[in-house]
Amino acid sequence: MQALEQAKTTLPGLWRIVQKFLPQIRKQRALLTVSFLALLAETLMRLLEPWPLKFIFDRIILPGFRVDAAGLPWLNGLNPMTLLTVLALALVAIAFLRGAAAYSSTAGMAIAATHVMTDIRGNLYSHLQRLSLGFHNKAKSGDLITRVTYDIERLREVTVVAALPLFTNLLTLVGMLGVMFWLNWELALISMAIFPIFLLSTVRISKKIQKVARKQRKREGAMAAVAAEAMGAIKVVQALSLEDMLERSFANQNQESLKEGAQAQRLSAGLERTVEVLVAIATALVLWRGVQLVLQGAVTPGDLLVFTTYLKVAFKPMRQLAKYTGQISKATASGERIVDLLDTIPDVRDLRGATDAPPFRGAVRFERVTFAYENKDILQGLNFKVQPGQHVALVGPSGGGKSTLVSLLLRFYDPMEGKILIDGHDLREYKLNSLRQQISIVLQDSVLFATSIRENIAYGNLNASEDEIIAAAKLANAHDFILKLPQGYDTVLAERGATLSGGQRQRIAIARAAVRKSPIVILDEPTTGLDNASEQAVSEALQRLTQGRTTFLISHNLKAVEQADQILYLEGGQILERGTHSELMAQDNKYAHLYRLQTVHERALQTLELEKGKTHAA
Ligand code: ADP
Repeated sequence: MQALEQAKTTLPGLWRIVQKFLPQIRKQRALLTVSFLALLAETLMRLLEPWPLKFIFDRIILPGFRVDAAGLPWLNGLNPMTLLTVLALALVAIAFLRGAAAYSSTAGMAIAATHVMTDIRGNLYSHLQRLSLGFHNKAKSGDLITRVTYDIERLREVTVVAALPLFTNLLTLVGMLGVMFWLNWELALISMAIFPIFLLSTVRISKKIQKVARKQRKREGAMAAVAAEAMGAIKVVQALSLEDMLERSFANQNQESLKEGAQAQRLSAGLERTVEVLVAIATALVLWRGVQLVLQGAVTPGDLLVFTTYLKVAFKPMRQLAKYTGQISKATASGERIVDLLDTIPDVRDLRGATDAPPFRGAVRFERVTFAYENKDILQGLNFKVQPGQHVALVGPSGGGKSTLVSLLLRFYDPMEGKILIDGHDLREYKLNSLRQQISIVLQDSVLFATSIRENIAYGNLNASEDEIIAAAKLANAHDFILKLPQGYDTVLAERGATLSGGQRQRIAIARAAVRKSPIVILDEPTTGLDNASEQAVSEALQRLTQGRTTFLISHNLKAVEQADQILYLEGGQILERGTHSELMAQDNKYAHLYRLQTVHERALQTLELEKGKTHAA
């Protein structure tokens, strides 16, 4: 019953996967057709294998028993020695042809499967990169990576290692049963007598194997999670001296996984032996009745030989069925995970009729823009206008919606209501790439990649020349410190740029933004967390970067926003105050209050430093 249940869930899943992958499979049509024909030839050769021996028995060694069901009259005409030579050669020829066919079908299918999977992996990766942030915020990156690597690999492996041989063997089984019934239905029925017992024991044991395997998979997943988490936070782990504790927990899981692995192998080895005994019983039964039939002249000794040989081979696919059904249903699960991803449609995508954006002048307008994350209202009917080249500062308490506002400009998300216009045109009229290419960003913790500094800068503009890269680095106050690094611009950074100081990372990020030469710049807390000296170098670089470009600056440091052409004070997703610094100070409201608070706080800090300096001096 459970097997039936499994088939019910596996088969539609398989169908869905095959349908989804059909375009990639079609591309391999020629190879697949050839492989399939080779597979048929292989099956035929397997069926023919015992036949030369049968003829040797029936026609040469024991010609007295001649009641040949498979009468090939022309064989009778040959003299025994010629016949023997022909049959001996046939034996070799069959083995050779079978080998050649098996090679072609296995290699052909394996190559086709690899092509298909490589294609799908490429599609999956580019699809993943294009899925919107709304999706990525919810997804776990570890899980996505597993789908691109592990799930695809498992699907490929099972197709080649399990599904294909299983199919070949099933085809052989059907062929053999056909031949057996043709030779003698009574013996054929006897051969199948052990079938029910065989099926029962196989189903029982394979169920156990599957249970253990599933447990093991789950445990391996948990181990990977523990390891990934510990490696990701190795600093904290070492600082808190958690190594021993985590090691023990990992070792326990590891040990359990070993036990389960051994158990699965034991079960599977046991199953193989059971099958061997069952096959021996079937062979004994066939011989017992078969010899009687031979003596009665109903079948020839050669026929009996064919039966016993087939029996040995015929049960192999059944054994494999037990071994592989588990694997195939697991691979189906993998395949479905991949299809699920491919079926996810990005919520932000190019609309039909979207065109490449012309070079922007940089006028930006928000018109009644409303936005919510998952039913949580964030921005509520925002209206504001920015002239080309103007600097806008976004200030206000955390959670006010400042980062959300700029991510709408980049079309990481689309507004629920209202629209955002650049130079008078709705953002959605343009292709995503052409829009984003004209906006550069510097974030609080800019991400650098584990590659050379030159490439990290060039990621801002893949067509940038060497001179442009160096000019951008100079503008960003980064050129000098880069030259002091051991390999200069060729210095390869650690993951996320961990080998550089925060200020250096920021300056490379600024160079990356500068090389883009975009008319619109977004700065999200670009100097937060830096010490005074780095802050100065970074601020200087930023000033040069934003010169003459429409700039959105998010900052908690109100000193940095004083010069802005326009300051928007955001709280609870609404613009509560707007104007220049002096206008807002004159209004003497929230902004002015915050500003004074910060100034007082800063003065207190400065006094404190001074006092410290004095006591030191004394
Ligand atoms: P700010 O930049 O002013 O600190 P944000 O725009 O980052 O504000 O966040 C505004 C609100 O939106 C916050 O309450 C935050 O918790 C919520 N928020 C931010 N990003 C997400 C997200 N991806 N999914 C759900 N809520 C989010």
